[in-house]
Amino acid sequence: MKELVVATRNKHKLKEIKTLLKGLPVRVVSLDNFKRVPDVIEDGLTLEANARKKAIQVSKFLNKLAIADDSGLEVEALGGKPGVYSARFSGKGATYDSNNKKLLKLLKDTPLSKRKACFRCVISLADKGRIIGMAEGKSCGKISFEPKGKAGFGYDPVFIPNGSKKTFAQLGIRKKNKISHRSRALLKARKLVKSLVCNR
Ligand code: IMP
Repeated sequence: MKELVVATRNKHKLKEIKTLLKGLPVRVVSLDNFKRVPDVIEDGLTLEANARKKAIQVSKFLNKLAIADDSGLEVEALGGKPGVYSARFSGKGATYDSNNKKLLKLLKDTPLSKRKACFRCVISLADKGRIIGMAEGKSCGKISFEPKGKAGFGYDPVFIPNGSKKTFAQLGIRKKNKISHRSRALLKARKLVKSLVCNR
């Protein structure tokens, strides 16, 4: 069976991606299965650029099929920030907690009606250094006034998806995976993987 390498060192993302790729006719493996895969410097100006770079570099280095995810939170009242800079929003040494604190502080005087935000996920698929396809998924909602819930990662405790009263972190992984930006992008990426593997 062909191997599909998930090009991420983020354990939370890896867990979500592995769950969302279940059932495909490929053996899903992670970077931990290989020694000395160089870290990819995420210096792109867009999610698309970073996702492409990660998939190309990893698939080229390992001479395999690789899938990469670059995602971020786009907050309307902040002109789309933190976006591609979501991981490092609060500066050097940023943590999920410090990023959430900065976000809530910036929005402290913003009423609920103006707290609209969307998570966006860009998935890229590359084989032996060549891009095979890209897919995007979005999940929109509002930023809460305080962090709530323990599940998930990143901005999950402060993001309330449309149609819910709970944050992603309160909903838990199973419910998040039904409506998340990542699950929507991976649903499209699954079709690309299937057509690639089945047409060989
Ligand atoms: P990157 O895609 O590795 O550059 O990281 C994007 C950053 O966006 C992460 O460090 C998180 O802070 C945030 N992020 C991406 N996806 C999610 C998600 O599903 N939930 C919460 N935060 C996320």
